[in-house]
Amino acid sequence: MSFDSLGLAPALLRALADYGYTQPTPIQAAAIPPALEGHDLLAAAQTGTGKTAAFALPLLQKLSTSGQTMTRRPRALILTPTRELAAQIHENMRDYGKHIHVSATTIFGGVGMGPQINALRRGVDVVIATPGRLIDHLQQRTLDLSAVETLVLDEADRMLDMGFLPALKRILQSVPKKRQTLLFSATFAPAIKALALDFMHNPREISV
Ligand code: AMP
Repeated sequence: MSFDSLGLAPALLRALADYGYTQPTPIQAAAIPPALEGHDLLAAAQTGTGKTAAFALPLLQKLSTSGQTMTRRPRALILTPTRELAAQIHENMRDYGKHIHVSATTIFGGVGMGPQINALRRGVDVVIATPGRLIDHLQQRTLDLSAVETLVLDEADRMLDMGFLPALKRILQSVPKKRQTLLFSATFAPAIKALALDFMHNPREISV
């Protein structure tokens, strides 16, 4: 199978070719078409399977083609358990999005709030965040999630293991109800299923 058959835009296919990606991984082949159609996804995938591109590519495509408004509020939110993962996702999004105009910023703890507040104030399409620091921004009203159309929960099982369930619930209440949600997790533990049942709309289940 090639990337061409998944429904991705030429600008994204060009970026993938630039990085020598010739074939989608199994999780990419399974997740990208339904994600592009707008479905919620509950996807079982370990690190190293290419899961980042499985959510980043449909996300970038949606941002580049649909309903560009004048809003400078973020239209996509990616939640991930650690700052290292946030930085990695940011780098991948920059690579895959090199031929389109989509801006992203990271929000994580252990560094000053100031530069993050400035980046948010300038306006950004995608926020890639760890849950704890994101809550700090919500409390200080330095982040407005009311324009979020796509929410990604990356390594959801790890976020729960780290005690982020209360933060996740709070964040899920701060994003619009009408949105697409993509949840990636190494396992579908009962707590993940419960989260999906509460916060997702008729998700397609994918495991490869
Ligand atoms: P991830 O599971 O998202 O952490 O990705 C693991 C590694 O595989 C990353 O270094 C990606 O750049 C790389 N990768 C992802 N998708 C592909 C692909 N279709 N072909 C080749 N490499 C890929």
